Amino acid sequence: MAKVGFIGLGNMGGPMASNLVKAGHDVKVFDLSQAAMDSVVTLGASASDSANEAATSVDFVVTMLPAGKHVAQLYLGEQGLLSVVDDTTLLIDSSTIDATTARTVAEQAQTQGIAFIDAPVSGGVGGAHAGTLSFICGGQAAHFDSAKTILNDMGKNIFHAGDVGAGQVAKICNNMLLAVLMAGTSEALQMGIDNGLDPKVLSDIMLKSSGRNWCLELYNPVPNVMDNVPASNHYQGGFMVDLMIKDLGLAAQAAQLSKSSTPLGSAALSLYAMHSKHNNGEKDFSSIFELFNEK
Ligand code: NAD
Repeated sequence: MAKVGFIGLGNMGGPMASNLVKAGHDVKVFDLSQAAMDSVVTLGASASDSANEAATSVDFVVTMLPAGKHVAQLYLGEQGLLSVVDDTTLLIDSSTIDATTARTVAEQAQTQGIAFIDAPVSGGVGGAHAGTLSFICGGQAAHFDSAKTILNDMGKNIFHAGDVGAGQVAKICNNMLLAVLMAGTSEALQMGIDNGLDPKVLSDIMLKSSGRNWCLELYNPVPNVMDNVPASNHYQGGFMVDLMIKDLGLAAQAAQLSKSSTPLGSAALSLYAMHSKHNNGEKDFSSIFELFNEK
């Protein structure tokens, strides 16, 4: 069993750290919120007084923070994590951040002989609780293989996308496509409804036709077409509109840096931003359907 320092115990990090404890690892935790720490300590983790304490004398450090600026602040600088971790510790950042920050931290770590991989996740809060997340990793193959020792206890699918930063790039490519698919699926379903079709019948037809996609298969955006999806629960739970906007913003930033043309990603970002402005930021992202459904 491994010694793990886990920093950032929010909606995702809390259940992920809990799964490591349940799998028998020796887990030290730190979060700025005492309540967040308490929920994992009750299960058997030990509380640390600081992030640096959590990151000392462990085999792995996992960080699960809101954004790139939090990751840079935590790792870098005179008092940052890199000033205290052992050179045998593998650093794993699972936050969704820009690839540039991931590469900057990795380069700084490398100058000190410390290994770092980016390992953003897909699968949401439900996947974090169930231990079925997908980890999309960037880093050296040997570090990726070593990380699997603990990632397997938090996730089901563990991918190696390429060098450091590649995990972040793959994650935002996926989420940009997901946003486009959800908006397009909503648009098509509403056009069908406006022209007299039953959305369930139309969904069944498209599921067996060339418009078939993940949203139709597992996450229909029209209320009451499918059971057990956010659309049939007032768009509660699932993946928040504002988090999708964050990921689309990261995609736009990456596209600008690489001079990639992403007209549909840009349109999706505008649609989701408009939707959030109408007080929908905390709803599930499939609620974009309501933008087309507005009468
Ligand atoms: P969250 O806001 O619930 O949790 C973040 C936690 O980090 C908080 O508990 C906060 O107190 C803590 N924190 C911030 N700065 C810290 C510091 N310096 N030291 C210690 N703790 C600190 O966010 P979340 O939903 O858990 O998301 C975390 C990351 O995972 C984000 O990058 C997000 O984009 C990504 N993500 C989220 C989801 C989702 O559905 N929520 C899905 C996939 C990926």
